[in-house]
Amino acid sequence: MKTFRVFNRTINFPHFKGISIMFKKLSKKLFGGRPSTQPSDGFFLNVRCSECGETFKLFINKSADLGQDYHEDGSVTYFLKKEIIGAGCRNRIHVNMQFDTGKNKVSEKIENGEFIEE
Ligand SMILES: [Zn+2]
Repeated sequence: MKTFRVFNRTINFPHFKGISIMFKKLSKKLFGGRPSTQPSDGFFLNVRCSECGETFKLFINKSADLGQDYHEDGSVTYFLKKEIIGAGCRNRIHVNMQFDTGKNKVSEKIENGEFIEE
């Protein structure tokens, strides 16, 4: 019984140590990088109202503004749904965007307005 315990400890301890080192590396990766408020974590959405021509420039924060789609295989893709109502008229502009697992835009749709290329 005594020998079993000693044996058990000697293999368990390095194993545990390894996990905590892994976690330290992981948390460094997750939190040690650039702050999440940098513009590189998002993009500008430039749209024009098709009724009155009013233009909008909205900053989309990829970590805060995107919705998540969970798939059966465990992967997560992202989407953006935005309704924009201007001051110029009563038109409502609907923007729908789809993003892949890496939050790269794969498709975009707009109703009652148009995207403005910068
Ligand atoms: Zn308008």
